[in-house]
Amino acid sequence: MARRKIVAGNWKMNMTPSQAVELCNTLKDLVKSDDVDVVYCVPAIDIVPVVEAVKGTNVEVGAENMYFEEKGAYTGEISADMLLDAGVKYVIIGHSERRDYFKECDCLLNKKVKKALEKGLIPILCCGETLEQREMGVTMDWIRLQIKSDLADVTADQVKGMVIAYEPIWAIGTGKTATTEQAEEVCKGIRECIAEMYDTDTAEAVRIQYGGSVNAGNAAELFAQPDIDGGLVGGASLKADFGKIVNYK
Ligand code: PGA
Repeated sequence: MARRKIVAGNWKMNMTPSQAVELCNTLKDLVKSDDVDVVYCVPAIDIVPVVEAVKGTNVEVGAENMYFEEKGAYTGEISADMLLDAGVKYVIIGHSERRDYFKECDCLLNKKVKKALEKGLIPILCCGETLEQREMGVTMDWIRLQIKSDLADVTADQVKGMVIAYEPIWAIGTGKTATTEQAEEVCKGIRECIAEMYDTDTAEAVRIQYGGSVNAGNAAELFAQPDIDGGLVGGASLKADFGKIVNYK
């Protein structure tokens, strides 16, 4: 069965609650689609107003992070139950900004992935190499390490429902998109890694996005690749252009 495309916005640390509602209203008609899943991953404080603002539309809401513990003395953290209760369906885990600035390691990310899945949230698990790693020729080794570590003890059925986002760090927010060939090569490599870890059914089911300077001009070519099932979009998700990315065809 063909995989359904998924285009997710990653708002990062942008949009106050009132700006968030305004953006939802601006995008409302532009992001309508029958054949693409559309997700806004928003800052924690925007979740409640955004869930309200997208009610009755085709847009689902995601968080940009979560903690793996159930509840308790973890000042500043947000649990899976809190996200679910607020109406969140997806959660980004392991974005390179979290890995880099907040020192989130694969061992922690594995706990987050497992907790999200246990609770019924859909993780959007991010992976990606630095420019140095690409130049050293270790891109696929690095990404396989990330995927294998982050998915330790995750079952095939769980992986089938997940989303993996390949985001080369050198392409994020730089305007420097990976070439279509580079993006497809790694997304295909991720699928092969999943096939080795699980089986071909699982590899064929899991959705793999490309992220890193996706825009209205390059989305169509990227999303047409056999192993690219949509995009994780940063900067361009904050503008009307996001509608063009969703309706890339
Ligand atoms: P960008 O960000 O589209 O602004 O490059 C992508 C991301 O970090 O998810």
